[in-house]
Amino acid sequence: MTHRDPLSWIEDELEQLDDRGLRRQLAERGGPQAARIVLDGRPLINFGSNDYLGLASDKRVCRAAANVWQQGHGGSGASPLVTGRSELHARLEQRLAEFERTEAALLFPTGFAANLGTVAALVGRGDVVFSDERNHASIIDGCRLSRAVVVVYPHRDASGLRQLLEQARGYRRRLIVTDSLFSMDGDLAPLAELAELAERHAAMLMVDEAHATGVLGAHGRGVAELLGAEHGVHVRVGTLSKALGTAGGFVAGRRTLIQWLLNRARGYVFSTAAPAALAAATLASLNVVRDEPQRRATLLARAAELRERLRAQAWDLRDSQSQIIPVIVGGADRVMVLARRLQQSGLLVPGIRPPTVPPNHALLRISLCWTHADEMVASLLDQLASLRAADE
Ligand SMILES: *Cc1c(COP(=O)(O)O)cnc(C)c1O
Repeated sequence: MTHRDPLSWIEDELEQLDDRGLRRQLAERGGPQAARIVLDGRPLINFGSNDYLGLASDKRVCRAAANVWQQGHGGSGASPLVTGRSELHARLEQRLAEFERTEAALLFPTGFAANLGTVAALVGRGDVVFSDERNHASIIDGCRLSRAVVVVYPHRDASGLRQLLEQARGYRRRLIVTDSLFSMDGDLAPLAELAELAERHAAMLMVDEAHATGVLGAHGRGVAELLGAEHGVHVRVGTLSKALGTAGGFVAGRRTLIQWLLNRARGYVFSTAAPAALAAATLASLNVVRDEPQRRATLLARAAELRERLRAQAWDLRDSQSQIIPVIVGGADRVMVLARRLQQSGLLVPGIRPPTVPPNHALLRISLCWTHADEMVASLLDQLASLRAADE
């Protein structure tokens, strides 16, 4: 009898990923997250990060964290429910609630944990959750974990959702959940319509503003602010790890919601709080968001201009309305070829393949940041124009 290696199936599976052009590789970045980075020793202009406001390497933000570390505040050591959260966490939660104009807010170790824990705490057996087909993986996983019936509705389709809501009778609770600014397509959820549907059908509305917090809306509160739909959103999720340049996630809403989550969201209850230094850094980031609105205004104006120029080169950008600009390519192999060519010209523009996007929807994801200088954008446009020309 031969003894087979019980892990040998992994090699087979990895080979299959290779064959389908879907195997991912992990590079090593030298230096901080910024507009110029060094990846595996190669200097690149970075159109891949979600550091939209340039706060990940902001001196004020980094110094705020360093001061706290230096005072001897390292790891948090336990779940916040066991040994409490730090004063800085408490202050940040207060600040986030003020920022979002809600009664309360709760910090999670990551945005992923915030979505996972919150969806699963809001609905369970006997309930139904309506989820946009392009929602982030953390929402999809939260839906699965919840054991509620999951109804996936067509992307941004409020009238499709209306029909599904009308058909869904006999459930205990209803939840509608959506990204506000979709992370791969750069388009916006129709939040005013969703809020109206939620009200009519007595459903909870949960909105994940991960890519919009700090960027969209007059005060940077996100798409709900931009579209005037804030009063209709019951559960707001945001991350600190994107435009705010630090790490972590949060939920904001009424006090009873926050109380419920800190009792029931497993990603909160069973996970160690982030280090206090991160809370200090995020407080500094929120000051920049408040005091320097020109960062988001400039970023969005330049994103609009870049979209216009790319459309003039005949690239398909779908309905992007933001600093996230997808260049739709189609096949996974093709997108990796284009991404490699761009890298050889010194530009990092990630190729996004299934399962992150649907089959035949592979795309180059340009993520524009406030720190990109005009000549960096010009170089991107030049390179994409010559790839386009080579195509024809
Ligand atoms: C990145 C992202 C998250 C997860 O946030 P992290 O803080 O990175 O864990 C959640 N939702 C959306 C839409 C995201 O893009």
